Amino acid sequence: MAQLIDGKKIAQEIKDELKERMTRLKAAGESRRLAVIQVGSDPASTVYVNNKKKACEYIGIDSLSYEQPEETTQEELLELIGELNARRDVNGILVQLPVPGHIDEEKILLAIDPGKDVDGFHPVNVGNLSIGRPGYVSCTPAGVIQLLKRSGITIEGKECVVLGRSNIVGKPMAMLLLQENGTVTVCHSRTKNLKEIARRADILVAAIGRPKFIDESFVKEGAVVIDVGIHRNADNKLCGDVDFERVAPHCSAITPVPGGVGPMTIAMLMSNCVNGVLS
Ligand code: NAP
Repeated sequence: MAQLIDGKKIAQEIKDELKERMTRLKAAGESRRLAVIQVGSDPASTVYVNNKKKACEYIGIDSLSYEQPEETTQEELLELIGELNARRDVNGILVQLPVPGHIDEEKILLAIDPGKDVDGFHPVNVGNLSIGRPGYVSCTPAGVIQLLKRSGITIEGKECVVLGRSNIVGKPMAMLLLQENGTVTVCHSRTKNLKEIARRADILVAAIGRPKFIDESFVKEGAVVIDVGIHRNADNKLCGDVDFERVAPHCSAITPVPGGVGPMTIAMLMSNCVNGVLS
């Protein structure tokens, strides 16, 4: 039977470690403050923002909340980011995505000081990751590495196949696995022979955004399968990119959805806020 990688438990462990670290930092007179900006009132974004604020409170990070109206202009948002960049008492800035259509997301992400970019989306941080220099790393792929390490799974020397090449998941995931000395292949919608390539993987990471797309025919017997996907099915139940019931009997370890990669994203955001850029 496959080992179930318990993301909820591992995320809680990380948050407890961070809480302890924050207690020590506060005793030494230090603080951490995260500014969270939400433009508009998209319900899913509100849930994410509230979860981030709750996690800050649990760990002992101060959070500043900027709930901006839907009609906020790009200039107004850039001005707010500029103010937060200049504030010495703010060490992390996060703009909840997506922003409304009249705002250029790329311009907003570029405006955040890379030294406060706790989401790890700024091109400077993306570049640092690709050349192996210290910088903030995108939280979801960083969470996958923690899941593997804390479950005793070795990455070095393994065939790692990443399904998906988005800027926030697939590409940084590939870079991190490479940094851990995996042999990495990245697949996307134009990949030929997707199944054959996926079946080479010792570690298969699915981040394609298609519910239950990956069945047992994509998976080598004994592989580790990490499911980044999150979807709601017709009965409002969560599922991933992997058909868990069909795939689990064939792997050595697998993440469930929910309770796998999902909880790790906020834990790694909190880690970025507390620890800053680790070298
Ligand atoms: P995305 O931006 O839509 O990227 C999807 C990637 O998958 C693209 O590179 C696309 O290829 C590739 N792809 C799509 N269909 C494919 C197919 N049939 N065969 C091979 N490749 C295919 O999605 P994302 O933001 O990376 O997110 C991926 C999934 O992870 C989503 O379900 C999302 O909800 C979830 N997610 C979860 C978390 C979390 O905290 N757990 C965080 C972020 C995202 P092209 O580049 O060729 O189009």
